Amino acid sequence: MFNIKVTKTLNSQLTNIDFSNLPFGKTFSDHIFIADFEDGQWTDLRIEPFGPISMHPASSVLHYGQAIFEGMKAYRQNNGELVLFRADEHARRFNESAQRLCMAEVPEKLFIQAVNQLVAIDSGWVPQTEGSSLYIRPFMLATDEFIGVRPSTKYKFIIFTGPVGPYYAKPVTLITSNEYVRAVKGGVGEAKAAGNYAASLLPMKQATEAGYDQVMWLDAKEHKYVQEVGTMNLFFVIGDTVVTPATDGAILKGITRKSFLDMLTAKGYKTEERPVDVQELVDAHKAGQLKEVFGAGTAAVVSHVASVTHKGYLMDLPPVENRLVGNWLKAEINDIRLGLKEDIFGWLSPINQKEVAKSF
Ligand SMILES: *Cc1c(COP(=O)(O)O)cnc(C)c1O
Repeated sequence: MFNIKVTKTLNSQLTNIDFSNLPFGKTFSDHIFIADFEDGQWTDLRIEPFGPISMHPASSVLHYGQAIFEGMKAYRQNNGELVLFRADEHARRFNESAQRLCMAEVPEKLFIQAVNQLVAIDSGWVPQTEGSSLYIRPFMLATDEFIGVRPSTKYKFIIFTGPVGPYYAKPVTLITSNEYVRAVKGGVGEAKAAGNYAASLLPMKQATEAGYDQVMWLDAKEHKYVQEVGTMNLFFVIGDTVVTPATDGAILKGITRKSFLDMLTAKGYKTEERPVDVQELVDAHKAGQLKEVFGAGTAAVVSHVASVTHKGYLMDLPPVENRLVGNWLKAEINDIRLGLKEDIFGWLSPINQKEVAKSF
């Protein structure tokens, strides 16, 4: 066990929160975890009252963008037990992002202990209502006080959490871009690097101005192969096969994506991970074989796609009620998380509230 110093808030906000109305990403729990990397070590591990952090204006993250993050969730099961979903995978991916951005790595055990302890302290913040959960945001930033381009020697590893309600998003409309790309092989698309999202904002804005919800990204070289959308990986049901673009160095390796592939295979679905040419989607749509398109990610879990527009051709998709695969995945993964279906894949880890309490 790492020794994490805990300072509890004297000013809990918990009773001020309306759990029946939780807009995504705007409500923050009482405590925050912070650790500082200095002289090659993580030091000063602490959980303290949630609040602003102060930074030197020359902090390298503010100038050269060494910043990465994760997004994961804790659930309250129907028996009251709290569980994390695939925390080990998130810890591992965090370090893969750190490697690509030339940042310090966080021992997986520290990452997982810090998440566990923070969620245990703010266990009252994990919503009760079905479809709600506690969103967990670990991130790391470079804090060398130096104006010069080089890997920072100092970092802050921070985790905060916040309750989120069910995601009742309308099916989204997508458009491909022939001008902009999200990520290129050899770049940082596979990392959850903050800058990736900054780069996507202008094309996103143009898409919304043109009346679409999101950009469906195509590969940077040929503008031909589908990558992903927003903060979600994409799935296509073509005939009786569930297809998702193969990760190729430019696509974020989603943990929801990976989980869905395992669930589909176990259920006996035919799945394929391979390059998906957008023209294949157009052809399948013309032949009436494009049955479903959906995004998969931690925040929305499944986000149904209403239509995809590519070079002026509109692929409208069947009504959401008829989407067997996307609807099944969403319900099934929800049941696993709530403990209503057996966790046959071993994806859940319980938060031991008593064990953590002893370490205070
Ligand atoms: C986080 C993210 C995803 C989804 O990953 P999950 O692990 O399923 O949440 C997909 N694409 C991008 C670009 C992302 O940042």
